[in-house]
Amino acid sequence: MEIQRPRGTADLLPGTVEAWQVLERIVRDTLATANYQEIRTPVFEHTELFERGVGDTTDIVSKEMYTFEDRGGRSVTLRPEGTAGVVRAYVENKLYGQGSISKLYYIGPMFRYEKPQKGRFRQFHQYGVEVLGSEGPAIDAEVIHLNLTVLQRIGLKNLQVELNSVGCSVCRPRHKAQMVALLTPRRDELCKECQERLEKNPLRIFDCKNEHCHTVLKEVGAPYITDVLCEDCSEHFQSVQAYLTAMSVPFVVQKDLVRGLDYYTRTAWEVTSPGFTTIAGGGRYNGLVEQVGGPATAGIGFGGGIERALWVLAEQGGSLTDAHTIDAFVAVADTSAERTAMAVLATLRGRGISADRDYQGRGMKSQFKLADRMNAKFVVILGEAELASGKATVKDLATGQQEEVPFAELASLIEERVKGAAVGGHEA
Ligand SMILES: [Zn+2]
Ligand SMILES: [Zn+2]
Repeated sequence: MEIQRPRGTADLLPGTVEAWQVLERIVRDTLATANYQEIRTPVFEHTELFERGVGDTTDIVSKEMYTFEDRGGRSVTLRPEGTAGVVRAYVENKLYGQGSISKLYYIGPMFRYEKPQKGRFRQFHQYGVEVLGSEGPAIDAEVIHLNLTVLQRIGLKNLQVELNSVGCSVCRPRHKAQMVALLTPRRDELCKECQERLEKNPLRIFDCKNEHCHTVLKEVGAPYITDVLCEDCSEHFQSVQAYLTAMSVPFVVQKDLVRGLDYYTRTAWEVTSPGFTTIAGGGRYNGLVEQVGGPATAGIGFGGGIERALWVLAEQGGSLTDAHTIDAFVAVADTSAERTAMAVLATLRGRGISADRDYQGRGMKSQFKLADRMNAKFVVILGEAELASGKATVKDLATGQQEEVPFAELASLIEERVKGAAVGGHEA
């Protein structure tokens, strides 16, 4: 029987993977412009990290984790998100001792046991940013601006930032008390999850997908956290908005936005586009580093799904094309030229020119077809005549022009032409 890939996973084949490479390059290049550096953490961690670092009331931890016992009897979990691992690495490697803030980013696979559907996978891929060590509202604006810029450069349209503040350890308990007082008399009408949320984190009732829960919220006049922020949170929130305006970031305040994670404090946001809910989002997490065992350190970050971004891009009629090409195809017209062909390939590749050949004994006509299929820019022809004259025939597939080039000058000529074309391409 044929073995198939597990449900909720995907094979990224040549032809599809190029768009991913472009997207990843956009993420790296965009974040580099703001002096962010990459961090790579393990794909699996001790389960306890996510229980503490993501929060055991969240759907992610309570329902969606790939948790298993390893052969040593330890409970480990395939990372369901990127932040907890980065924060753990920050603490474990004492990055806080370096005297400056850490501006980090990651790209990689995450795992959640969810019902697979369009654009949603059990192994999915995220890019994200974490900044540790700054409490000020300016860094909030920088991170939100970067989150938006990455998506704009990918080519997504009509993007908007939905922004909120979810308060802090001063104003959140006050809000919680109000929620509990207002909602307890109607507790039975809330969905099961919200009954639990009422005890642990009533703010997240605003995040419920059940309509009746929202009706109850409205009927009891449950206050938005945004309306009952403490003075510090309120000031922080105002400053973030002022900075975003200065940076020309389009945003709206969305008072019922709370995000599905327990660790957010103050700023929380999502990037959306009409017709598409969350494309990426993030928030501030001032208590998380301590929760994971480090010194009190402010943090903020965002994450976005690669599958999701590409899906929205396709729905909007866009694409990230980066057709695979090679610089040179070495065609062998006669078996006597085999060894020279291998030498030429090695020389070209050694100069950074991408080159390939036929390895299946095709005739000349068929080799040219293969060169076409590989999107080769030049074909270098080697046969008896070429060996005798010490010159290869080089054909430019774009113009059809052919010329004789001494073996020793082959690499320089192709290098020059390819670079010239690249420069011309950028100008056009
Ligand atoms: Zn507060
Ligand atoms: Zn509910």
